[in-house]
Amino acid sequence: MGEPNLYQLTIHEAHQLLASRQLSSFELTEAVLARIPQVEPQLHAFVTTTHDLARNQAREADERIAGGDMSPLTGIPVVIKDNMCTKGIATTCSSRMLEGFVPPYDAAVIEKLNALGAVLVGKSNMDEFAMGSSTENSAFFITNNPWDISRVPGGSSGGSAVAVAAGETIYALGSDTGGSIRQPAGFCSVVGLKPTYGRVSRYGLVAFASSLDQIGPLTKDVTDCALVMNVISGHDPRDATSVSHPVPDYTRSLIPDLDGIRIGVPQEYFVAGMQPEVEAVMRSAIGKLVELGASVEWGVSLPSTPYALAVYYIIAPSEASANLARYDGVKYGFSAQDAEGMWDAMEKTRQHGFGPEVKRRIMLGTYALSAGYYDAYYLKAQRVRTLIRREFDQAFEQFDALVTPTSPTVPFGIGEKVDDPLQMYLSDVCTLPINIAGIPGLSLPAGFVDGLPVGMQILGRPFSEELLLRIGFAYEQATPWHERRPPL
Ligand code: GLN
Repeated sequence: MGEPNLYQLTIHEAHQLLASRQLSSFELTEAVLARIPQVEPQLHAFVTTTHDLARNQAREADERIAGGDMSPLTGIPVVIKDNMCTKGIATTCSSRMLEGFVPPYDAAVIEKLNALGAVLVGKSNMDEFAMGSSTENSAFFITNNPWDISRVPGGSSGGSAVAVAAGETIYALGSDTGGSIRQPAGFCSVVGLKPTYGRVSRYGLVAFASSLDQIGPLTKDVTDCALVMNVISGHDPRDATSVSHPVPDYTRSLIPDLDGIRIGVPQEYFVAGMQPEVEAVMRSAIGKLVELGASVEWGVSLPSTPYALAVYYIIAPSEASANLARYDGVKYGFSAQDAEGMWDAMEKTRQHGFGPEVKRRIMLGTYALSAGYYDAYYLKAQRVRTLIRREFDQAFEQFDALVTPTSPTVPFGIGEKVDDPLQMYLSDVCTLPINIAGIPGLSLPAGFVDGLPVGMQILGRPFSEELLLRIGFAYEQATPWHERRPPL
């Protein structure tokens, strides 16, 4: 293999070149900006590109670097999912409702990146308001999987995962409510981490389901994931659910062996409907963990797992119905002009502003929360949520981590599930329980089936991100999957 193209660099590779003055942020940024028009006509990962801003930020970063003021993210191009507020830059959530909305402030994660001299190249496409598993629910256009453009990239952070996989950025941020970082990471063969609930501030993240949402990194390898976590983690008084647990240096845990680590494989995640080829990839990946020194026990049981999907589709829509009530045509974004009076204005605004999946969720949630049904649905779901969390706690008394597939199948075809919401919902069976329990989950490349990516998911106790990254790092060092790039 020859020299990698600059746009293929990881954060840590680019950082070394920047630090040793072999590369400037401006050159790196130009390489990424030149890559975007080469592949975007096939992929459609971006809602907005920010070329001018990126060039200015790159120049500023080069000045900082020249002055010796440098962190691992200084001068490195990043893409942000279009549900995180960026001051002065449109933030649409891929919804007509927020088309043209320009936030007057930055999300907490953006403030942190800006403070270090990051370079923003654009905002990425997503399922409208992060509701979906394929990025087909974007109100604007669909995004294609770079490994096979007739297939979906996963969702809802599909644009971010594609941009990383295809070299349209060095790394990206996504959000994950039920799998939206990990599932597209798995489908695009990149690394994605959903941190422990409360680890990363949600301030400035457009709310979907507030008790489940977390922001996290999408990167080309595990080391990059650790570097991004070092920056975005931590307490923020503006997000009352963020936690003041100390932030470690996540790169310190990256050692290439798994001696003494106890890993369980929960049987409920090897479900009916799982592709046998995906199961075969998982078996060989787990075999590798054993070679690396881990002790692995199959057949661990988390018996409430089959209820997670139902619990999620009560709790997430309930919270969404409350959160999305703010879109009334007055405060932000779209406002129907052909209306008579307040009620008519609200009705028409929502009729035209929201797409079908968002409307479906608002109706589901409003129903589940209504006086006559609250106990039967919402309260019951919260009880089962507690059971699911307890079963994880019990499993983590015996095991340091659990390993599962990220998804039961390889990326599916565009249009294949879009008319069947239940089938679409089922593509998240392996990721939803993790948000319900609030624990961290890491997805990383584990192999391919006929050229299509398969992701492995590693789960741990709350605030065990260091351990998950260590397991991922050891696996990555021993396997070639993360080095493969899509054939574009
Ligand atoms: N696919 C799930 C849903 O549609 C999860 C989405 C997410 O994590 N934002 O709700």
